[in-house]
Amino acid sequence: MRNNKVVLITGASRGIGRGIALAFAGAGFTIAAVYHKEVSKARELKSGIEGAGGACEAFQCDVSDASSVKLMAGRVTERLGKISVLINNAGICRDSIVVNMSEVDWDEVLRTDLNGPFLVIRECAELLEKDGGAIINISSIAGVRGNFGGANYAAAKAGLIALTKTAAKELGPQKITVNAVLPGFHLTDMGGAMPEKYSQKIKTDSVLGLTTDIKELADFVVFLSGMKTVSGQVFNWDSRVI
Ligand code: NAP
Repeated sequence: MRNNKVVLITGASRGIGRGIALAFAGAGFTIAAVYHKEVSKARELKSGIEGAGGACEAFQCDVSDASSVKLMAGRVTERLGKISVLINNAGICRDSIVVNMSEVDWDEVLRTDLNGPFLVIRECAELLEKDGGAIINISSIAGVRGNFGGANYAAAKAGLIALTKTAAKELGPQKITVNAVLPGFHLTDMGGAMPEKYSQKIKTDSVLGLTTDIKELADFVVFLSGMKTVSGQVFNWDSRVI
């Protein structure tokens, strides 16, 4: 059953974002599925959700580009109205150790994984439902522990945690919550690009000997978006103890 609420999800075309979109659709939300390049995957998501009786519109946007974000936010509100929940999920990695890292790779990851959420929050804050709106930023354990071979990614994700806490303070008076979720390891296109020994190490480090499950994560994100008394928090969705 639909609930007349709109959730905007960046990076909804694949991986974790797609899983989060399916969970929100199952909870009755209308999905604003933001993709970058994979239009066919975004269309596939839209038709899957519509086929199951839900509502979904796809919107192209490069989150690292301020004018693209502005256009996308305008189109979303024009088509779907007020936004209830914003999920900043889009992200990339370009790995190499610090001494070998190019400025291009450093900048590209910072622009997408940190500037992206900043630009989307800046553009969407005014479009979000007051008194009940929610922002959830998908960060990473790398932003807390560091990440061998991924200083750009770790720095961006640490910055995203600081952005989360600051935005929570600034938007709190409007009763908009802002939280960060750090997903465990998932075999998405991003996770699958890691060497096999990396995923093995994650299982070894897990107190359960497991990696995490996208559906569990997505259900938690939906649940968290409905919490009215929790903001500025960082949820480590993992079984590695930090
Ligand atoms: P993924 O499968 O590689 O998907 C990345 C998504 O981000 C795609 O939908 C992609 O859109 C979108 N995207 C990339 N650059 C973009 C840009 N400039 N503008 C707009 N959208 C852009 O990644 P994932 O594994 O699902 O990761 C999702 C999030 O979870 C990321 O923030 C990642 O850092 C975080 N995370 C992942 C893991 C993991 O183990 N996988 C662990 C911790 C945190 P297109 O499909 O259109 O290219």
